[in-house]
Amino acid sequence: MRKPLMIGNWKMNKTISEAVSIVKSMKNAVVDVTDVEILLCPAFTALYAVNNEVKGSNINVGAQNLFWESEGAFTGEISPAMVKDTGCSYVLIGHSERRQYFGETNETVNKKVKGALAIGLNPVVCIGETLKEREENVTFNVIEKQIKEGAKGLTPEQAVLTVIAYEPVWAIGTGKTATPEQAQKVHAFVRKIYANMYKEEVADKIRILYGGSVNPGNVSNLMEQPDIDGGLVGGASLESESFAKLIKYSK
Ligand code: PEP
Repeated sequence: MRKPLMIGNWKMNKTISEAVSIVKSMKNAVVDVTDVEILLCPAFTALYAVNNEVKGSNINVGAQNLFWESEGAFTGEISPAMVKDTGCSYVLIGHSERRQYFGETNETVNKKVKGALAIGLNPVVCIGETLKEREENVTFNVIEKQIKEGAKGLTPEQAVLTVIAYEPVWAIGTGKTATPEQAQKVHAFVRKIYANMYKEEVADKIRILYGGSVNPGNVSNLMEQPDIDGGLVGGASLESESFAKLIKYSK
């Protein structure tokens, strides 16, 4: 049985004090939630403070990125050990904004996934097609390449620690959501790729999240789909009330 996972991706928003303040109200709002795993991904600068604030609660914390090398002359970068040191258990890798604005490729995603796993961080690997790719009917080719290249060289034990976030680029921050059926089709395809690469048991264990304008109003229909195991949420995670509502989609 896969436990649903709801992730709040705060992107480049919130100072340390703003982040801690929203976490304080979030903790109260979700105190009774046991059936959904909750993960917040603040900016690097707030990770340590947010990790301190969530101690003893049902909220986990992840980073939004890392660099694959363990140390050295890489000005401005953050190593897997540095992320772990703040108390994080997860890290987002290959978000479409990083692919689009910061030149991330499937190859760098693969290096980051290995760097994260080596230190004991669970990678959340983001994949998804652009509008142009969907219109050209190459969605499934794009997804297959992103999965296979991103997971290259991983053992089955490492693969099950990975979370996949399917985020059609045209649905991120646009208010346009993929229909539950559109998303389910891709999620089932992702699971099939894992079953072919590894075994059914590995594919059955991997959580595949949907991301792209998820909000408290559309989350239930998405979560009804058999292969949608949670959400990666941007805008609707920035306020505790809307994110708590979304997390409690089944209540
Ligand atoms: C995201 O941050 O990955 C995302 C899907 O953003 P939004 O929910 O705002 O579309």
